[in-house]
Amino acid sequence: MTLPPVSATTTPDPALAYRDDLIAAGLLIPTGVDGLYGRSALFESVVTGLDDAVTRMAAGDGAEVMRFPPLLTREAFIASGYLKGFPHLAGTVHSFCGNEAEHHRMLAAIDRGEDWSQHERPADVVLTPAACYPIYPVIAGRGKLPDQGALVDVFSYCFRHEPSVDPCRMQMFRMRENVRIGSAGHVQTFRDTWRGRILGFVERLALPGALDVANDPFFGRAGKLMAEGQRDQQLKFEILIPVTSESNPTACISLNYHITHFGEIWPLRMADGELPHSSCVAFGIERLTLALFRHHGFDPATWPAGVRAELWPSP
Ligand code: ATP
Ligand code: ZN
Repeated sequence: MTLPPVSATTTPDPALAYRDDLIAAGLLIPTGVDGLYGRSALFESVVTGLDDAVTRMAAGDGAEVMRFPPLLTREAFIASGYLKGFPHLAGTVHSFCGNEAEHHRMLAAIDRGEDWSQHERPADVVLTPAACYPIYPVIAGRGKLPDQGALVDVFSYCFRHEPSVDPCRMQMFRMRENVRIGSAGHVQTFRDTWRGRILGFVERLALPGALDVANDPFFGRAGKLMAEGQRDQQLKFEILIPVTSESNPTACISLNYHITHFGEIWPLRMADGELPHSSCVAFGIERLTLALFRHHGFDPATWPAGVRAELWPSP
């Protein structure tokens, strides 16, 4: 399937051209910072359609719904190991905690165009890098898992410091996840089920998605080895959809297997005392929205009936 042409033919970068088109159509509202956009009502109607479609796909699974603001405790963030793997993507929160004299010094530094960050102190919270991160300490805090393990449904804005002109690579975007914590068998069943579901989902959305083994963007030289290990063990799969490039399709849905990583950190325990495994399926809601606009046009009223029925079924 060939991507439809972008209109801004004078721009050599197709990602930038697509962003220009989205902004010109009013779907994304620019802020002057790459990766930070407002969304229009039409954009949000697709977001809601996708969110609801994911809910329908998982209806009957009995997942516990948890919604967190896009902040994580500093303690949970450090424990998660995120700074070991992805220091370049993390976003921390800092606040002014000084007295009036320090306040004046901070404002003076700002007036002089100087670095004023030294006047701020780390807050108790950091920006959430992935929607599932807040739930592990919550589940661990409840004590041993029940026999059937845990299944949680989360949805959150997430932050990653990766400014880019590619509209698919935002700094703040939404991730809808289902997270399974349980025995190796529970988690295997979850992965098999969701692998089939996400393939069916992109087919019903008439998007040219393919499932492939993937790795996370680990930092540095040690990170290269971690990425290779992740691929060798097939711990991460992604649904890749061409959005701004045919040759470099975009990861729109991820299926991650953490083995016992989160179980060891908190620690989580099965009813029999064993370490639980965990896995999550993560829908990149903005990326799916942008893929739909790219392949079916900027007016959802004209989208194929099957796609519309998947997103907005009539009652
Ligand atoms: P990539 O390889 O493109 O950097 P990732 O492997 O880091 O993505 P995950 O950590 O698996 O992505 O995140 C889950 C989902 O969140 C992805 O499948 C994707 O759809 C979405 N996502 C990740 N990063 C971004 C981003 N910067 N902007 C928009 N959506 C994103
Ligand atoms: Zn997750």
